[in-house]
Amino acid sequence: MPATSRRTAALGTENAFVVLAEVNELVRRGKDVISFCIGQPDFHTPKNVQDAAVRAIREGKHGYTPSAGINELREAAAKYMGAMRGLDISPDHVVVGGGAKPFIAYAILSTTDSGVGDEVIYPNPGFPIYESVINFVGGVPVPIPLREESDFGFDLDLFEKRLSPKTKLIIVNSPENPTGGVLDRAQIERIARLAAERSIPVMTDEIYRQFLYDGEFVSFYAQPGMHQRSILLDGFSKSYAMTGWRLGYGVMPAELAEHVTRLMVNSNSCTASFVQLAGVAALQGDHDPVRKMVAEFKRRRDILVDGLNKLPGVTCKRPRGAFYVFPNITGSKRPSAEVADRLLQEAGVAVLSGAAFGAHGEGYLRISYANSEANLRKALERMRPLFESFAR
Ligand code: PLP
Repeated sequence: MPATSRRTAALGTENAFVVLAEVNELVRRGKDVISFCIGQPDFHTPKNVQDAAVRAIREGKHGYTPSAGINELREAAAKYMGAMRGLDISPDHVVVGGGAKPFIAYAILSTTDSGVGDEVIYPNPGFPIYESVINFVGGVPVPIPLREESDFGFDLDLFEKRLSPKTKLIIVNSPENPTGGVLDRAQIERIARLAAERSIPVMTDEIYRQFLYDGEFVSFYAQPGMHQRSILLDGFSKSYAMTGWRLGYGVMPAELAEHVTRLMVNSNSCTASFVQLAGVAALQGDHDPVRKMVAEFKRRRDILVDGLNKLPGVTCKRPRGAFYVFPNITGSKRPSAEVADRLLQEAGVAVLSGAAFGAHGEGYLRISYANSEANLRKALERMRPLFESFAR
């Protein structure tokens, strides 16, 4: 066994993939499992996007591309992202990569130094890769609790207190994974103002921007002074049901884009060319399939929230965005990990423990409703006996 580095040992994981592997193994052994563990739309990639990829392969467009991405996609992304936010974005601020996820590491790597106390502020509960990468690169994780009482908004007073001369990056994510919460305009404006006053860069993860069911979409990136210092993350996985295609991008100041491009050169060279061409088709094509998918998710959210609120010991807010609910299960008087595990083993329902998203997620479960209405209803029935047994 070769000696492994301390850095590698500090690397965390994303529990969704751990549970997904467990589910696949249980299914392989013949168990009937309804899975809500992974954030993956159960829709097909729109046909025009599929066709564009097939055409590109047949036309021989399968070679290396520039590391920052092909011009067509950088231009299309700049135009699309800019129009959505009322901004004029230059294509050389866009770097294309294999999903939105790599940009989390790229953003943290390019703004912090290792072992010198550089701090990164991030939401907790939050997407687990934020904390994992902060630890991996030798930064200091500074979590900001998202509390149910404030619809999982940032605790802004605490946020202000935790800002320090050592703060090198602030991470915000709205609509949020895992809570489905959406930061409102007042919160976003205050975070942006505080970051601007102190010239701190912000990584704004807006991958769920199209999954907004109520109210206005407020882009952090569009706040005054923000696009000069922010890294905007977005991608195709969720909006165009393209999780396995691995396509996303970061939008950032041109100087940072050069560094991030070198990180690309040093890691995976470039993103698959035909996948990038499919991305152009997604951005420029008809968005009706996206709108239909989002409308369907809203319907499912309501079925799930109403059903969960009828289970003993469970209360669930109606989140405004993403495709997750984050029910409070403290009434079960059991740790979240135990409840999630027993739901899988005894009820054949795969969900995630809220604690897998950080300490402040304890007492909750994360349920992704990227599954059919029939399965949602069946899962709610299957969950009932277990929650009844906890309530006794
Ligand atoms: N950011 C958040 C908040 C996510 O939930 C996810 C995926 O679940 C990602 C980033 C990564 O997305 P991608 O599949 O584009 O890498």
